[in-house]
Formats: sequence, structure tokens, C-alpha cells
Amino acid sequence: MRRFIYQRAREPAEAVQMAAAAGAVDSGNRRTEFLAGGTTLLDLMKLDVAQPASVIDINPLAGAGYGRIELSQHGLRLGALVRMGDAADHPGVKANYPVVAQALAQAASQQLRNMASLGGNVLQRTRCTYFRDVSYRECNKRDPGSGCAALSGFNRMHAVLGGSDHCIATYPGDFAQALIALEAAVEIAGRSANRTIPFASLHRKPGDTPDKETNLRSGEMIASFLIPAAPWTRRSLYLKVRDRQSYEFALASAAVALDQHDGIVRTARIALGGVATVPWRAVEAEAFLRGKPVNQDNAAAAASAAFATAQGYGHNDFKIELGKRTLARALQQTAALQI
Ligand SMILES: Cc1cc2nc3c(=O)[nH]c(=O)nc-3n(C[C@H](O)[C@H](O)[C@H](O)COP(=O)(O)OP(=O)(O)OC[C@H]3O[C@@H](n4cnc5c(N)ncnc54)[C@H](O)[C@@H]3O)c2cc1C
Ligand code: SF4
Repeated sequence: MRRFIYQRAREPAEAVQMAAAAGAVDSGNRRTEFLAGGTTLLDLMKLDVAQPASVIDINPLAGAGYGRIELSQHGLRLGALVRMGDAADHPGVKANYPVVAQALAQAASQQLRNMASLGGNVLQRTRCTYFRDVSYRECNKRDPGSGCAALSGFNRMHAVLGGSDHCIATYPGDFAQALIALEAAVEIAGRSANRTIPFASLHRKPGDTPDKETNLRSGEMIASFLIPAAPWTRRSLYLKVRDRQSYEFALASAAVALDQHDGIVRTARIALGGVATVPWRAVEAEAFLRGKPVNQDNAAAAASAAFATAQGYGHNDFKIELGKRTLARALQQTAALQI
């Protein structure tokens, strides 16, 4: 066990102040971490993958609005410390933003969802075995410049979209697909200023710096997620395909939201999970469907457009066909919903 400093913040300003002070002496893997549910951070610390010198417990901020779910005519605001289970079970979220509730309900287990926060969920690290097992020397994400064991190793769970010569690790979460499809924004608290960015700008593709996973600045903390009300949020769903039907990460998933009139798509919002290095918005599929009905042929053609640039690495080649079929099925199910 490595020694670290534990602090508990009572309010947001104190948390970012502590993070800024601690972050100033961060180096390499020993970077400051916020503690929310701890369901993934503590695992990674025990595995020695995460080696924070400083851990800032932000759970008391739940009372300062970070634990609140707010629904209005303008949209949905979810505090970063809302527990996954509470958002998944919220009647207003289920009725008006089903893709959000379903993505959360199909993630992890009920016990984990009771503990885990929304902020921690979007920032969870990849489940790549080579990343999580420090006995493997090659992992550019864990140890920049060391290589990537997955490229020539066992890569069945790895990404077919958004990879690079340096990393092909899959982004593992489910909730993020709903957020990116619904064009959510993220409210971020920092020491000198707060800011709001599109959720689509939060995560970074690996490129040649896979260790840099987000565009959060040192010491910044996620405060909340804002999902705008739109004509497509109610006709939405999340379809997740996995090796077993519960308590498992996605092999392929699709978050779909449609605005359709007389069976013709006015607007489609589509995101893919389990197949990409970051939460993946399928803009080509969205553009293809505009002005068309979602029949079997159009759903298949949209899915092909979504995977046009996909690249397999051997064991994960099957994900290209699986991803297409998952999206085509999700599109048809969404179009057929009785709203
Ligand atoms: C066995 C298992 C199965 C799982 N299956 C799934 C699954 O199918 N789908 C899925 O989506 N997830 C799955 N998960 C992941 C789980 O959902 C995450 O562990 C959980 O959501 C993380 O939330 P947390 O609050 O516990 O985060 P923590 O562990 O507390 O923190 C995680 C990271 O987020 C950072 N952080 C937390 N809150 C903030 C904030 N407000 N601002 C800035 N940084 C912050 C921390 O510094 C840390 O780096 C699984 C986990 C396990 C252990
Ligand atoms: S895919 Fe990424 S996380 Fe996995 S071994 Fe390669 S560099 Fe590391």
C-alpha cells in the first residue's frame, strides 16, 4: 500500500482549492484524485495502477447541489454526485429521458449503482487487461512510451473505432453514450473559474498521448451534467450487447434518440459504446437517416455508415459486424416505440 494524503472537502470551493494545492506537486502517476463512490478508484489503487499522492473526498458536496436531480421544461440537470441507481430509478428521468435511465440501469450491478456516482462513472478508466495488470510492462496509457501490449496481444474487448498506433483501449462506460447522443453539457468547477463545455469535448481520443484521457485541467472537478430538452429525448433507448446479460461491460451498445413525423426521421441522435476509444457520436448515421423512414434497409445502411472507418485488430474483428447489428436493431426498436 502506498501512502497518500486523505482530505475531506465540505464545499465545492474547498475541494478545488485542495485539488489545486495538491495538484501542484503531482508527478506522473501520482496525481490527485477525487473520491466519490470509490468503486473504481479504490480498485485501481489496490492494483497499483492508480498511485495518488492525494485523495480528496467530495461526498459532503452532495448536500451542496452535487447530489441533486432537477427536471424542468428546459431540460435535465444531474449533479455529479447523484448515485447511478437514483438517476436510473427516477420516474421523471425514466419517462422523459429513457436512454439515460436505461444506460445507467444496464451498467454494473445494483450494489455498485447504489454507491457509484455519475461523475465517477464518466471518468472511469478502461478495462484493458494490460492497463490494469502492472506485471505487463507495455502500456502507453499507464506508462507513456512503453508500447501497447494489446495491439499484438489478446484484443477481443478492444476498440474498432478511434484507436491509434499507441492505444486501442475501449471506453467502458454506458451513461456517457446517452450524454453524447443527447448533446449534454458538463459544468466544471475550477479554482479560478467555473466553465461549461459540451460533453463531446470532455474525452480525448488516444492519439499519441493515451495517458491524457480528458480535457479537464489540473484540479478541475465535474459539478453536473445538463441535458437539454428536445423533441427526440422521449423516443430514445439504450441497447447493450454483452457476454452475459447482467453485470458485464458492453461488447457493443447503441444509444438512439429520434424525432420522427409520420414515420420519417426529422432528427436522429446516435452514439456507440463498447466499440470505440471514447464515447462515440455516429454523425454519419445521423446524417444518413435524416428525411428517411427507419426500415430494415435504412437501419442497416445507417449502421454501415457508422462503422465505415472501423478497424479490427484480430480478436476484435467480430465487433464491427456486431456493432452494426446492434445499431440497426436499436434504430428499429426506437422507431417502433409507442410514444
Ligand atoms: C465489477 C464492475 C462492473 C462494472 N460494470 C460497469 C458497466 O457495465 N457499465 C458502466 O458504465 N460501468 C461499470 N462499472 C464502473 C462503475 O460504474 C464505476 O466504477 C463507477 O461509476 C465509478 O463511480 P464512483 O463514484 O465510484 O467513482 P470513483 O471510483 O470515486 O472515481 C472514479 C474516478 O473519477 C474521478 N472523479 C469522481 N468524481 C469526480 C468529479 N465529480 N469530478 C472530477 N473527477 C471525479 C476520480 O478522481 C476517479 O479518477 C463497473 C465497475 C465494476 C467494479
Ligand atoms: S490498449 Fe491502451 S490501455 Fe491497453 S495496453 Fe495498449 S496502451 Fe495500454
